[in-house]
Amino acid sequence: MLNEFGGVEMDAAIMDGRDLAAGAVAAVSNIANPVALARLVMERSPHVLLVAEGARRFAEQCGVAFQPDAYFRTPERVAELARAQEKPPATPDPGGSHPLEPSCGTVGAVARDRQGNLAAATSTGGLVNKRVGRVGDSPIIGAGVYADNATCAVSATGCGEDLLRVVIAKTIADAIAFRGDDARAAVAEGIAQLQRRIGGSGGVIVIDREGHCASGFTTRRMLYAAIERGGESLCGF
Ligand code: ASP
Repeated sequence: MLNEFGGVEMDAAIMDGRDLAAGAVAAVSNIANPVALARLVMERSPHVLLVAEGARRFAEQCGVAFQPDAYFRTPERVAELARAQEKPPATPDPGGSHPLEPSCGTVGAVARDRQGNLAAATSTGGLVNKRVGRVGDSPIIGAGVYADNATCAVSATGCGEDLLRVVIAKTIADAIAFRGDDARAAVAEGIAQLQRRIGGSGGVIVIDREGHCASGFTTRRMLYAAIERGGESLCGF
């Protein structure tokens, strides 16, 4: 997604449910694989979240791949920004849902291995026409990503401002921890809170400690696919 000046700033996070280890980067540019950098933050630094210039320096030290601006500024993204900037500016409603529309720029994954270890990751270019320096839910532990072997792994997408305010991923994990929900019931609770409290726009994919998969969204659609306990693969939108 291109920001208000046509630049690319990406956010990503990863979390390991075995020990709640986590790593994230926010507002990074020119990094070929932001989620791989988030993993390096988790594995090779004492920190959880690095942003902008600091994240760039860390990336250089780790020797990760960089790409020029042109790699990210595809004609499709340029046209998308032009369309967004043609629209009259949306009026912010401080008490209500954020006026920015999410689009299809986020990738999330949740997984459980045979030993019951859970993990989650989310990577995004954010929202089209966002302000320079804006950071959404994706790199924020408990909002755009969460994994805990005791409950579930969650990855979220949608309007980050909404997902941050209801701390969607941790809300879902807490429904499992404190109400004994399974993945499906916990997703229903998290999505209901997003809808009911702020009329929020977003969706989640979840796998719980038993390996049950679930997804839910308040947006018009959300592309997802799952394989539950080695069974049939299913796709939805
Ligand atoms: N959640 C992302 C953000 O707000 C955007 C998205 O999922 O489309 O940055």
